[in-house]
Amino acid sequence: MARTDAVVLGAGIVGTSVALHLAKRGLSVAMLDLRAPGEETSYGNAGVIEGETVFPPTFPPGLVNLLRVGLKQATEANYHLAFLPKVAPWLFQFWLQASPENQLAFAKAMRPLFSRAVAEHEALMTESGALQYLRKNGWAKIYRSHTTFNRMMPELNLADELGIPYRMLTPREMLKLEPALKPNFQRALFWPGAASLSNPLAVTKAYAARYQALGGVTLIGDARTLHRNGSAWRVDTAQGPLDTQNVVMALGPWAPDVLKPLGIDLPLGIKRGYHRHFKLAGSVPMTRPVVDPDVGYCVTPMEQGIRVTTGAEFAERDAAPTPVQFDRLMPRALEVYPLGEQVQEPTWLGKRPCFWDSRPVIGPAPGQKAMWLAYGHAHWGLTLGAVTGRLVADLVTGATPFCDPAPYAAERFL
Ligand SMILES: Cc1cc2nc3c(=O)[nH]c(=O)nc-3n(C[C@H](O)[C@H](O)[C@H](O)COP(=O)(O)OP(=O)(O)OC[C@H]3O[C@@H](n4cnc5c(N)ncnc54)[C@H](O)[C@@H]3O)c2cc1C
Repeated sequence: MARTDAVVLGAGIVGTSVALHLAKRGLSVAMLDLRAPGEETSYGNAGVIEGETVFPPTFPPGLVNLLRVGLKQATEANYHLAFLPKVAPWLFQFWLQASPENQLAFAKAMRPLFSRAVAEHEALMTESGALQYLRKNGWAKIYRSHTTFNRMMPELNLADELGIPYRMLTPREMLKLEPALKPNFQRALFWPGAASLSNPLAVTKAYAARYQALGGVTLIGDARTLHRNGSAWRVDTAQGPLDTQNVVMALGPWAPDVLKPLGIDLPLGIKRGYHRHFKLAGSVPMTRPVVDPDVGYCVTPMEQGIRVTTGAEFAERDAAPTPVQFDRLMPRALEVYPLGEQVQEPTWLGKRPCFWDSRPVIGPAPGQKAMWLAYGHAHWGLTLGAVTGRLVADLVTGATPFCDPAPYAAERFL
């Protein structure tokens, strides 16, 4: 019977970073997934390492915006009608988070993680030979009206307090940064401290290769086979059963499949999102991600093409894709971005695992010995993957954690 110090369930960017950090501390580690590393949510995201995040996304403000979403006219959000009764309690709690007090609480709770996000990734990319995918040239947001730009002021004031750098730009200044854009907007914000990846999948795979070089094992298997075997945990893998002292839950949107049968029922919601790739129109390339928050999508230059990622869709996690947001947003996107012909491939669907307070759960599993939770990273799973790896490794090995993990504890929901 094989036995390890730790089994990490899930080989997305979070699980792979955790596994790499544990292997670096000298533990024997196995990472289990139904497929190869990085091929689910961690593949198709917008590639932004958003270390300068201050406030989380909230409900669109104002009745008109709510009506647009309700009438399915909104570009930034979509929903499946039959799913609404099921998601309503979660949506209500999420709506409450828009209060200034809750926004401030999020910013303070998350700063220790966000402030280290870029540096932690850069360190892992350096040792994994993946630096060629890292762009440390920030990201920008364009605003179609002065009204929406002015709504940013509370966030910018807090950014000033926290020492997070940004620059307010005129369209002309923004075009100096990204000459490929068309100036059909009123203002822009440039966040120089953010970074981005030209290929998030390649980075997760590079971390997995580095982990394997350190002796870590990657196995195919179903995490739902997890059960107690005496004082150990056991999972079934393609290579046979495996016992472990510690188990780390990094299944992202699939974590409830394993946790609920163990009696751990945390309020994880799913914000589905899509991407499509486009060829560059013209000869001037884009060099960094640029978000259009008023319309609700992000545009990132990737190795596969220019990737357009959508905002949130509220629907059953496993329901068939309904990428209607592209129909609504593409005419607006073409007003600003150099988007040519669509790359011929199926529209990608990913599932952001989100708690209603937009914070992940990182720490011990309530009521379960030697089980650690590391999931629910919402819009920032890529951003926070590497830093989560360090925090989980601190906790599992009994080292002094680099920050107070209390704001990420599962107990906040119990
Ligand atoms: C459209 C979109 C844009 C985004 N843009 C950004 C961005 O710019 N920046 C950012 O920081 N974040 C972004 N995100 C969020 C980010 O992608 C996620 O938070 C992150 O990928 C979650 O990583 P994870 O490792 O927790 O989950 P995943 O990557 O989903 O990994 C979970 C793993 O569990 C495996 N699994 C599932 N079930 C089982 C089972 N039964 N047994 C074994 N294995 C199983 C899956 O195969 C998968 O590999 C975006 C998300 C979307 C959808």
